[in-house]
Amino acid sequence: MGVIVSLNPADTESLGESWGRAAQRGLVVALNGDLGAGKTALVRGLARGLGCTSRVHSPTFTLVNVYEGGRLPLFHLDLYRLETKEQIHSAGVDEYLQPDGVAVIEWAERLFERGVRNAERGTGDAARIIRFVTIEIADEHTRRIVYEDTGA
Ligand code: ADP
Ligand code: MG
Repeated sequence: MGVIVSLNPADTESLGESWGRAAQRGLVVALNGDLGAGKTALVRGLARGLGCTSRVHSPTFTLVNVYEGGRLPLFHLDLYRLETKEQIHSAGVDEYLQPDGVAVIEWAERLFERGVRNAERGTGDAARIIRFVTIEIADEHTRRIVYEDTGA
């Protein structure tokens, strides 16, 4: 588990960037945090760390934005508009849980509920790493970012 305190958007992007540089194929990054917490900022850093120069913004009219051109493709999902489990599954989210590249999911709590960490640990699927990330807004510019890998 790791905790960092981010003092500005650049700090948040840097954390994502370091993850992008180190990421292995199959990594899923599950982002939680309120609107304006900095989830998309972290994704921007991830793309940069993978060496991808695409413009990063949350997918609005599609399920996923794919950023190519980096070391691995980055699949960017945002579940904000998908409220129920049924909507999430029928939208096709599941195929991105074992990505041929790196997947990052905003509002991941819509998919992974409490207790999922233990459930995921129990699958015995060694290839699957999920990094659970929570971004808490401490004040206007300060964010507390807590992350933990499961399934490693
Ligand atoms: P989310 O995707 O979680 O809704 P965004 O990344 O789109 O959040 O927006 C985060 C907003 O918060 C931006 O306007 C950004 O400038 C601001 N901000 C202020 N401090 C930080 C910080 N430490 N890290 C990330 N964003 C920050
Ligand atoms: Mg966002």
